[in-house]
Amino acid sequence: MNHIQRYGLLACGFLVGAALSGYVVKRHYCVNSVPEQVQWSQVVRVQNALDKPNLVDVAVIGSGPAGLSAALYASRFARKTVVIEGKNRGGQLMETSYVENWPGFEKILGPEVMEKLHEQAARFHPLFLADTVESIDFSAWPLVIKTNDGLTIHALSVIIATGSSPKKLGAPGEQEYWGRGVTTCAICDAPFYKDEEVVVVGGGDSAVEEAIQLAPYAKKITLLVRGTALRASQVMQSRLAGYPNIVVRYNTSIKQILGDGVHVTGVDIVDAKTQEPSHMRVSGVFLAIGHTPNSALFARDLQVDDAGYIKIAGRSQAASVPGVFAAGDVEDYVYRQAGVAAGNGIKAGIDADRFLTALGIDARMEEALSKNYLTIAQKSGKELPKLETLAAYETALGDGSVPVILDFYTDTCPSCLQMLPILGVVAQEYDGKAKIFKVDAEVADELVKKFLVYRVPCIIVIKNKELAARYNEALGKKELVDLIEQVL
Ligand code: NDP
Repeated sequence: MNHIQRYGLLACGFLVGAALSGYVVKRHYCVNSVPEQVQWSQVVRVQNALDKPNLVDVAVIGSGPAGLSAALYASRFARKTVVIEGKNRGGQLMETSYVENWPGFEKILGPEVMEKLHEQAARFHPLFLADTVESIDFSAWPLVIKTNDGLTIHALSVIIATGSSPKKLGAPGEQEYWGRGVTTCAICDAPFYKDEEVVVVGGGDSAVEEAIQLAPYAKKITLLVRGTALRASQVMQSRLAGYPNIVVRYNTSIKQILGDGVHVTGVDIVDAKTQEPSHMRVSGVFLAIGHTPNSALFARDLQVDDAGYIKIAGRSQAASVPGVFAAGDVEDYVYRQAGVAAGNGIKAGIDADRFLTALGIDARMEEALSKNYLTIAQKSGKELPKLETLAAYETALGDGSVPVILDFYTDTCPSCLQMLPILGVVAQEYDGKAKIFKVDAEVADELVKKFLVYRVPCIIVIKNKELAARYNEALGKKELVDLIEQVL
């Protein structure tokens, strides 16, 4: 049965259910996944929700400006709301320095915007889960969400605000040296490139911003622009003049990223006009060539466009399945601004509330449902011990019988900071079976050199005094537990 047939059946189920339940909703929704965009009365049997555990009115997936604004509105409407934050809590603004176009503030740090938004939403008590979504069953209602941490949530409505991820070049060497000289986060990794020469690839606002973030550290930054002009806004371009160690090289593309087996040592480039190849000796390649929407998890069941952006209906944020809404960079291929994402998140929060109202979920019904509401027992983790020197590391190894896990982080790396409490919980659970340490990569020079850390977060696993595994990405709780189980 394909998804179109499934939704046809679902629609019939809703109609039958309505007859039984008495909750008949007169509101019309345009449902794109039903064959040939048929308009039909949205009718849901609300009793279906009464016996479902871990119930929420609104599940927000993502914690960037769109997700948190949606959560602010939904929870302020007194809807039981959960925010499944994802691995990059706070989204792309967490990797930005100053923002000058966030309404209401002349100049504010990106992470500060997110902190304020989080605090504001938290006043209305949504549940925040440091977890990621593994799957959603769109054919059921309530929608069934399974998370990486093993939780099953039943959601009466879902707001997808998963944002977008940085694009990769696809050039030879990129994958091999990912996290070992090739990266996408200057604000996280710039301190590793003190007095080194690096390239930033791209000509948009992100590329200019990355170059500026690198300027206080790197000796020379070359912005490699494939065309004849920067695409970045004039205001961003004009800022480049203040940094003598940033140069722009036009008509230049990377053909290959080269290294010595351990780290990037240079790039082979080609001039688009003359086709002349040349080589640049650099130790860092920072990619800023645009973004791809994070919609892969939903693309089979929701309508998306050719580039993967979730399609929304008219002036609403409604996706192609009833009760599902999308907001932010996962659906907006036009504006791609944090402020617009927040606005769309607000719309999605209002849409979700209206959807629930249209289903008959009023205060009386909320009370009936409340016995099944999702509650989360907060797990308290232990404070991870810190390692700073080689000598302390040698002591921590002991006789090598207990695996040692090192979590390299920096205070400017949002996904690192998000992982620390999760690691604390895991450390508590595996107390005595594995030793987990945090290592501040800006302080622990000896350990950074020993383990050749050039990107955070970086997880190093030592078993029997030997390097057993290395991960250059943020890991969720389940992945961390799997990792420990493997080494045990
Ligand atoms: P953009 O899509 O604006 O720019 C992408 C850049 O990467 C372009 O210069 C493009 O070249 C280049 N590019 C794409 N693919 C390749 C490739 N394979 N090889 C080499 N170069 C490539 O993305 P951004 O992430 O810069 O910006 C996205 C949005 O976010 C924009 O709306 C921007 O204004 C906004 N933003 C705003 C900021 C701020 O206001 N402070 C900061 C950062 C982003 P070409 O031009 O030839 O296509």
